[in-house]
Amino acid sequence: MVKPNAPPYGPPPAAPPSYSQAVGGVPPSSPFTPGHSLSGGPTIVTTVVPVGPQPTHTICPYCHAEIDTATKTEPGLIAYISGVVIALLGCWLGCCLIPCCIDECMDVHHNCPNCKAYLGRYRR
Ligand SMILES: [Zn+2]
Repeated sequence: MVKPNAPPYGPPPAAPPSYSQAVGGVPPSSPFTPGHSLSGGPTIVTTVVPVGPQPTHTICPYCHAEIDTATKTEPGLIAYISGVVIALLGCWLGCCLIPCCIDECMDVHHNCPNCKAYLGRYRR
């Protein structure tokens, strides 16, 4: 009573390749090892422009031109808050607009005069 299709003991039919074949050659090493890549994340543009209240002489990070930043002053948050506070105090007629005219309350926005890129803001 022996099963006719019983496999006999022995080596498996598909033997793995010997390691001597892989060790013999130089292991493939690439100079570019993307081990710490951010997997296609957003490109971090570091626009660290030390802007101040005056036009700043710098290199535009966008068009790489040597520029003096074009400044534009706009009322900052302090100006708006001061305007609201003055308005609440009862000075309605124009007094609430005073902080918007005070230079100390203005934010200075820097733009590139060459490519019109926004470079940063100086906040007082
Ligand atoms: Zn530019």
